[in-house]
Amino acid sequence: MKKIRNFCIIAHIDHGKSTLADRLLEATSTISAKDMRAQLLDDMDLERERGITIKSHAIQMHYTYQANTYVLNLIDTPGHVDFSYEVSRAIAACEGALLIVDASQGIEAQTIANLYLAMEHNLTIIPVLNKIDLAHARAEELSDELVDLIGCEREEILQVSAKEGTGIAELLQAIITRIPHPEGDPSLPLKAMIFDAVYNPFTGVNIYFRIFEGTLTQRDAIRFLQTEKNYRVEELGILKLKPQPKERLSAGDVGYLVGHIKNTDEVKIGSTLTHVATPCQKAVAGFAEVKPMLFAGIYPISSADYELLRTTLQKLQLNDAALIWEPETSVALGYGFRCGFLGFLHMEIIQERLAREFQVQVITTVPSVQFKVTLKNGDMQTIQAPADMPTADRIAHIEEPIVRVQIITKADFIGPIIALCINKRGMIENQSYLTPQRVELIFKMPLAEIVFDFFDKLKSVSKGYASLDYSITGFEQSSLVKLDILLNGQKVDALSAIVHRSKAYHLGKNLCQKLKEILPRHLFEVPIQASIGHKVIARETVKQLRKDVTAKLYGGDITRKKKLREKQKKGKKRMGQIGSVQVPQEAFFAILKVNE
Ligand code: GDP
Ligand code: MG
Repeated sequence: MKKIRNFCIIAHIDHGKSTLADRLLEATSTISAKDMRAQLLDDMDLERERGITIKSHAIQMHYTYQANTYVLNLIDTPGHVDFSYEVSRAIAACEGALLIVDASQGIEAQTIANLYLAMEHNLTIIPVLNKIDLAHARAEELSDELVDLIGCEREEILQVSAKEGTGIAELLQAIITRIPHPEGDPSLPLKAMIFDAVYNPFTGVNIYFRIFEGTLTQRDAIRFLQTEKNYRVEELGILKLKPQPKERLSAGDVGYLVGHIKNTDEVKIGSTLTHVATPCQKAVAGFAEVKPMLFAGIYPISSADYELLRTTLQKLQLNDAALIWEPETSVALGYGFRCGFLGFLHMEIIQERLAREFQVQVITTVPSVQFKVTLKNGDMQTIQAPADMPTADRIAHIEEPIVRVQIITKADFIGPIIALCINKRGMIENQSYLTPQRVELIFKMPLAEIVFDFFDKLKSVSKGYASLDYSITGFEQSSLVKLDILLNGQKVDALSAIVHRSKAYHLGKNLCQKLKEILPRHLFEVPIQASIGHKVIARETVKQLRKDVTAKLYGGDITRKKKLREKQKKGKKRMGQIGSVQVPQEAFFAILKVNE
């Protein structure tokens, strides 16, 4: 056990975690030059396309230092605020963390957020300045900032270039000499934490775990402490580039197991794994519970896929513990699920994963935060779907979630950022200079104003020089109304939104215009109306359509006609049918795109 080091890599997005992981894998010969590709651990297609890490990835390396060979278990983590839950689980499985800071960018909001998370778990922090190859790297200046932030010595800060491979040997040494080896008695009853899982159609649920105490052997009878389900270990091993079976794993080790676990409900991420015969007495101290920020309905495009969607969500939830869901029905869309997400990016990713990994096409309704409604009769309700909002005459008052927003930026952009936040119903609470050029701004804002496009707006007013972190602080009373949309005279519950009264009229008008652009033409005229209560506040009309798009292609070329019909069919994908009106996915996100 003295030869094991468990550590994760944490940083703000794009500071070079995954690239640094590549260099560590190379330097430890975990991967041959021929198999190497950039950001190797980002193995989901979606991660590679978007260039971001979505999942934490664990991998084992070996490194010889002063004639001793060490086992290094690395977990690469995502940097985006929506995936901080992944980071918290990685941190719970480690003794140390490499805190990477881009030497040209400096300390950003997630640098601080993730550092605090690691400190709460008493991890040993190794500060690393990355990208020192860049001409505009400010290593000296940033070293001072890191000393201030972490309270470390200047000499403890490592300087590396993950791109060019400079400083990697020193970093490996620091990992071995500074991060404590795991402790825990291999002869005690088994106590392991499940930090991730994935569903495999052949072998069932595969579990990734970290053992804190005890020893686990092939064929052992195991128990999930929380769900009290028993299984037998069919395969056990460590995570190299490919899973590598082992006979036995013990305290301090990170590994995987397969047990032909078919039922996805029985495995809870963050829960404890033990033996049936001699179970451990106490569960591993859990990590932060998931607090979804955003809710939306997910509906199968074809109602026949409802059961398929349910089992798919179960499988996906296993691999993404931050996803929560429950059944819901909509007058417009039928049977579906109300899902909770950590943010807008998280929601988009789930929708994409459903389509790509499981081939389930879904419609996601207008996303919304959670509201607390007090009725005139004194009852309290928590509302996650605008459609569930009681009628105005029954409501005494509504409360909405409030967040503390931390923005780190250059002094030049303070003005425009404050203006943006005030426009988003924000109030500035504090402004402090981290250095003469870098400022930290703290705002109090309604969550509803920041979960959608706030980050994009922030980036544009700050020319990319601002980073953001936020956390919910509580609920506050607010003047909110329900904005309904009627298509062809029918109220469409899945398009309703809860908005601030001061913005409702304007939003309603712009939303109707936007929907007019988005909705396809039909064989009949489609009126679009926005209303508050019974009062219609805006109206637009989608003109009616000519019958056949191929009609204009007279003349004989049948292949051309076929192509066009194909195209027309493709265009129809991801359309929900509401009454007699086809509504594309875009329409549900239109409200996020209208200018206020
Ligand atoms: P992550 O989001 O923290 O995982 O960051 P990535 O590893 O995906 O890297 C983000 C970007 O920074 C990529 O375009 C990398 O090629 C680049 N990058 C990473 N490390 C270095 C470095 O040491 N020097 C330079 N110049 N670029 C780097
Ligand atoms: Mg990454």
